[in-house]
Parts: sequence; structure tokens; C-alpha cells
Amino acid sequence: MMDFTIKTLTGLYKNLVKNNYEVTTLCSFLKRPGPGKICVLRHDVDRQINTALKLAELESKMNIKASYYFRYPATFREDVIRRIHKLGHETGYHYEVLAKTNGNYKKAFELFKKELTEFRKIVSICTISAHGSPFSKWDNKKIWETYKFTDLGITGEAYLSVNFNEVFYLTDTGRAWNRSEANIRDKVDTKFNLKFRNTKDVIAALDGGKMPDNIILNVHPNRWKDNFSGWCAELAMQNFKNIGKRFLHPGK
Ligand SMILES: [Zn+2]
Repeated sequence: MMDFTIKTLTGLYKNLVKNNYEVTTLCSFLKRPGPGKICVLRHDVDRQINTALKLAELESKMNIKASYYFRYPATFREDVIRRIHKLGHETGYHYEVLAKTNGNYKKAFELFKKELTEFRKIVSICTISAHGSPFSKWDNKKIWETYKFTDLGITGEAYLSVNFNEVFYLTDTGRAWNRSEANIRDKVDTKFNLKFRNTKDVIAALDGGKMPDNIILNVHPNRWKDNFSGWCAELAMQNFKNIGKRFLHPGK
């Protein structure tokens, strides 16, 4: 069976709801972390903003909420951001300022403030997430070793504001779940030792009560396809990227 289709994703959402998880935004989780089962649903919109909009509409119909993070200017589409916000989702800023300024922290922070202002002209911004291109040598979230996002009225950062020993992180890296070699930036330190081959395994863990009460589910909209040709194109793209990464990081 094909995995990573909109159909399997919808099945996963239904299963979370069935198992009494509140599927919600990072902003809401940081402000009110419990009690009960909570699944923070996170989407980094790296490209294909129309796929993100379709997903936002689907989730809204299923009565679940998610945090959508947009790049500037790559996926900064005012009308779509406004629409997703209006559907009840969180809209956040997917920043890449250290990569853009070639590691100049001062310039990067100025750029961050400038881009943040553009977002805040159209929607409120509560949380942010770092864009982690495997091809870039810059780790964008390192800017917060020098500056504080709370000084800018930002409540949290998707990687830095969560204790991953308490919240289980599940990401759809490279056509698999939590494949640590797939993206050198998209992984976290954690004590959890849960492994899944495919989405069916994730659903089985939920049904079997093996999943922790707090989860962050990171779903990249462009990795889930609703037709066969799109699925093949994305698979080819992921394979190409994984080869590139091996090349960049020999021995990893
Ligand atoms: Zn990204």
C-alpha cells in the first residue's frame, strides 16, 4: 500500500481523535500544556503553498487545529496565510535568517525583525520554527544563543521551547517517520525509543496505548500526495536529496 498519501494522513488524524488526543497548535500547547492527551500538529510550509491550503481546509473540516509556518518570501502568500488563519489554525514564521545572511548574527537578527513585521501586518505571530535546509551549513535556530525571541513578543520556538523527553517528536522526514539520517537538522534529543516503519505502525501504537500523552507531529504538506504521479515525483526528489546529504556528510 502507498504510504504518505492524503488518505493515510486523514486516517492518522482520525485515529488521533479516536484515541482522545486534542489535536492543536503549538501556541495553544505552550500556553496551556495539559492535562490530557495533546498532539501538537506542526506544518513547515517549505514550498507548494496550495497543498498547505488544501490540508488546512481538510483539517478544519475534521475539527482539528495545526500550526503552519511560512517562509519569507518563498511561501509568503498573504491571501493564503490570512485564509489559513481564518480557518482557526495558527500561522507562524518559518525563519532562515542565519542562512540568508551567511552567519552574520547581527544582520540576521535585523532581518528577522523585518520579516516578522511583514507577517504581523497580516496576522498575529505567537510561535516560530527554524527552516532547516540540509544543504545549508547554517543552523538557523542558533541565533537564539545570542538574541531572545521573547523580547519580540514571541511565545515559543518549535524546536527550542519543547522538552522532547516529555513530548514525543514524530516527523515525516524523507518518506519515513523519524529517520534520523534523512535530515541532519530535523531531529531532537530524546529519551523515547519508539520506532515506526510506516504510518500503519504509528496508528497501531496509538491503538495499543503505546504512544506518549504528548506528541508533536511534524507533517510537511509537500510530502503527502493525493495522486500517484505526485507521489512518485516526491519520492524521486527525496531520494535525490538523501543522496546529496550523504555526499555532504560522508560517514553519517
Ligand atoms: Zn523548512
